[in-house]
Amino acid sequence: MVVIDMYDYLIVGAGLYGAVCAYELNKKGFKCLVIDKRNHIGGNIYTEKVEGINVHKYGAHIFHTDNKFIWDYINQFAEFNNYINQPVARYKNELYNLPFNMNTFTKLWPDVFTPLDAQRKIEEEKYKYRIAEPKNLEEQAINLVGPTIYEKLIKGYTAKQWGRPCKELPPFIIKRLPVRFTFDNNYFNDRYQGIPVGGYTQIIEKMLSGADVKLNCDFFANKNELLSKCKRVIFTGQIDEYFNYCFGALEYRSVRFETEVLNCSNYQGNAVVNYTEYEIPFTRIIEHKHFEFKTNLSKTIISREYPSAWSIGDEPYYPVNDDKNNILYQRYLELAKKEPNVIFGGRLGQYKYYDMDDVILSALETIKNIV
Ligand code: FAD
Repeated sequence: MVVIDMYDYLIVGAGLYGAVCAYELNKKGFKCLVIDKRNHIGGNIYTEKVEGINVHKYGAHIFHTDNKFIWDYINQFAEFNNYINQPVARYKNELYNLPFNMNTFTKLWPDVFTPLDAQRKIEEEKYKYRIAEPKNLEEQAINLVGPTIYEKLIKGYTAKQWGRPCKELPPFIIKRLPVRFTFDNNYFNDRYQGIPVGGYTQIIEKMLSGADVKLNCDFFANKNELLSKCKRVIFTGQIDEYFNYCFGALEYRSVRFETEVLNCSNYQGNAVVNYTEYEIPFTRIIEHKHFEFKTNLSKTIISREYPSAWSIGDEPYYPVNDDKNNILYQRYLELAKKEPNVIFGGRLGQYKYYDMDDVILSALETIKNIV
């Protein structure tokens, strides 16, 4: 890294949001210093090559968008393959296609052959078990899809995700449960989808090529020195941490990844297999090579995902956007408005679950207004 005396922008976080900002600011002639407390760039989309396979270190990342402009934008930095996400659910010794579609229904009910059969079956179940005013997630899910789909494909998985039985979870967590009456296993409805050939890290490398980058550098531990060198700040860390948790901590759900190299060429035949029964402690197994169709390699790498509770210091993955936390976030946002030289962005800075395409759009919007 070449350290110069003065930067126009300090960008805290070398994730996708920070990297898009750095790239666009560089194009406008601004000099940026990008720091990250981790020992690598890329934030949560970081991929690392192991045994010839690009491993998604912080969980499976599939790029999907309906926005042609964003699709073209990301394609400047890498070629994308034609991966289509078609997860499979394993419940005990049964396998089902996801999202819920005709392949799922015909397997669940041997007397279902046509879309009309499936609609009739689901409606029958919904009608029979309907609860007028659902008071918890279990009742809500049964109202939406009936007890069979709920028991086999939702109950255990959701309880593991949230760390509580569905009966103890509020109904609003599930607003809709899309069902498809076609034989279509494509998980996303978006027009554009794929995985970058060669992984995500190269994208961030290219985006950061015009900036100075400092890794293993925590903003809070080096604040005074960093601020003395930079006129303005783009902060993509946790907004509550920035304000020293003065109103209390915003809540997250975390995930623990257990990654293993296996001496077999094909472990599960699919990139994503969800384990929907409660008794299996992980929610899914990712087999990374299938994102890239590398079935010719003799080894494979799998990651089991264990959802976990979060406390300060753990890796924050999913914001818990319930009323309590959203109100708390609004209070931090009021403080943020009083910091004229700091822009808070990205999933931690804005306390929002963002897909990658949303993050790019949001970063581009931010930089558009900077002259
Ligand atoms: P991050 O990637 O989190 O980057 C923030 C960076 O800031 C981090 O590197 C962090 O180390 C750094 N930082 C924080 N605090 C400090 C500090 N004090 N000092 C220095 N550095 C700091 N999106 C999709 O489109 N498709 C998917 O399939 C998909 N799958 C996902 C799976 C999981 C498990 C998760 C959690 C998310 C998934 N996403 C997916 C969302 C995607 O990860 C995000 O949209 C994207 O990574 C957000 O980028 P970001 O720059 O806002 O945040």
